[in-house]
Amino acid sequence: MSHHPDDRYWMREALLLAVEAELAGEVPIGALLVCDGVAIGRGYNRPIGSHDPSAHAEILALRDAGQRLGNYRLPGTTLYVTLEPCVMCAGALIHARIARLVFGAPDPKGGAAGSLFDLLPPDHRFNHRIACSGGVLQEECAQMLRDFFRQRRRCRKIPLAHTHSPAPAHQPPSLRHDLL
Ligand SMILES: [Zn+2]
Repeated sequence: MSHHPDDRYWMREALLLAVEAELAGEVPIGALLVCDGVAIGRGYNRPIGSHDPSAHAEILALRDAGQRLGNYRLPGTTLYVTLEPCVMCAGALIHARIARLVFGAPDPKGGAAGSLFDLLPPDHRFNHRIACSGGVLQEECAQMLRDFFRQRRRCRKIPLAHTHSPAPAHQPPSLRHDLL
């Protein structure tokens, strides 16, 4: 996993987007799509408020860039996200043909870029390969999620934004889904 000099800069921008998610009552995850040193797509996690299970930060950043560029393919771009992508988002990154993925904290309970699954391996099973770098500002990214869930546990009586259907009690905890 190789890091580029400006990875930390863009990850800080993604962390600011994660703060936006937290302010909206969502799990704080932010994502940013960058092309040639310019941010072309931004997203933060908001599945609860938008009643949309696919409204993860990565998907929204891809949609934002796609709309802006008028193209569903986004070659030559780098996606920065504060938490390792899930299976759905890893698939979307392949469909979008992005060149590179940079994530902050690994997600052992649901990460699809090497933690729980490895859907972006450097082999020939997909005809598009994405270079991956993990662990950029890892501690800052993980701490934001830990703080969020710690706060949630303290305030169990405060409902998540606009949610009407509590998850079943047997749902396993993970960084993304804990307490949803
Ligand atoms: Zn996802």
